[in-house]
Amino acid sequence: MNYKIALIKGDGIGPEVVGEAVKVMDAIGRKFGHTFEYVDVLMGGCAIDAVGKSYPDGTAEQCRACDAVLLGAVGGPKWGHATDPDKRPETALLSIRKDLGLYANLRPAALRPALAESCPLKNDRGIDLMIVRELTGGVYFGKRDRYQTEDRGEEASDLMAYSEKEIERIGRRGFELARLRRKKLASVDKANVLETSRLWRQVMHRLAEAYPDVQYEDVLVDNAAMQLVRDPGQFDVVVTENMFGDILSDEASMITGSIGLLPSASIGDAAPGLYEPIHGSAPDIAGQDKANPIATILSVAMMFRYSFDLPAEAQAIETAVDAVLNEGWRTADIAKSGEEVVGTVKMGELIRAKL
Ligand code: NAD
Repeated sequence: MNYKIALIKGDGIGPEVVGEAVKVMDAIGRKFGHTFEYVDVLMGGCAIDAVGKSYPDGTAEQCRACDAVLLGAVGGPKWGHATDPDKRPETALLSIRKDLGLYANLRPAALRPALAESCPLKNDRGIDLMIVRELTGGVYFGKRDRYQTEDRGEEASDLMAYSEKEIERIGRRGFELARLRRKKLASVDKANVLETSRLWRQVMHRLAEAYPDVQYEDVLVDNAAMQLVRDPGQFDVVVTENMFGDILSDEASMITGSIGLLPSASIGDAAPGLYEPIHGSAPDIAGQDKANPIATILSVAMMFRYSFDLPAEAQAIETAVDAVLNEGWRTADIAKSGEEVVGTVKMGELIRAKL
């Protein structure tokens, strides 16, 4: 098969980590008989410098003409102070998610076996969970207001709204993903307080009847935050609304060690999905061959699994990454003091050699 991939290399370490991921894709292509065609798409700070806007006209169309999008990272101190939304790199991230209809954000948090010792938490049954965060609704997209009151000074409000339809489509994603994994789904809400959560729970219970093979539970968000540090191994797939997912997915990622290891996917009902490491552009180490490319390489594995339905190719990448880590190879971010470290390019080379 031939696949067309949009590459948004972006800023800082983005081009370095995407560069290594592309070489891994090509190695997979040779091994499994696929070809990959790449389309460079300009977005982020580099686009502000080149054409005056972080999200140039036509970006979404360029991406829609591809089967999937691979993003490095965008942003950096150079563009951090602009107030004009066109000159802010984050505008591009929100716009592309919206324009491509990417309502489901998948954030796996898996403790790589070779790094199990560096996890401070109890992990006797391992940690391998996936947070499914609703990405285009809830309080981040609700009406915002700020107004003067007569007796309480200034007041502000943010509206949180969810429709049955929005809950159902993300809920279904959660059940479907659980079916592909260990068939356990935890739905996180705050149904003891919030009306949106009560509707969320009602819709999830209805869906649960249609997925009797998936073991389902409701978890209140405060309890979920606690359980994630108490015993993260209990979770398989966790589905939740936008803001709870934002917070819990960061918590979950930190329990597995380095930010340089964690991939993510954002998907909608139609192609293309967008795949990216969870880290940012790391301006402090950009251009120094220090960035860990594993998060981006594992994002390619997610692309193979969720956009192209190529689980063997995805597994080959994950196995290669684990093999390299098992041999003790480390980039600086995951090395213990005194351990020898390798750079971005060498880490990419080692992973390809295992394929
Ligand atoms: P960051 O993730 O870029 O960096 C945080 C720390 O982690 C830094 O010390 C960095 O050196 C380290 N780090 C990150 N990725 C690494 C990797 N692959 N290998 C080794 N070390 C790594 O977060 P930040 O410093 O808060 O943000 C920097 C810039 O990135 C900001 O402009 C921010 O807006 C942007 N950002 C972009 C995205 C995105 O494009 N999706 C996400 C987060 C932050």
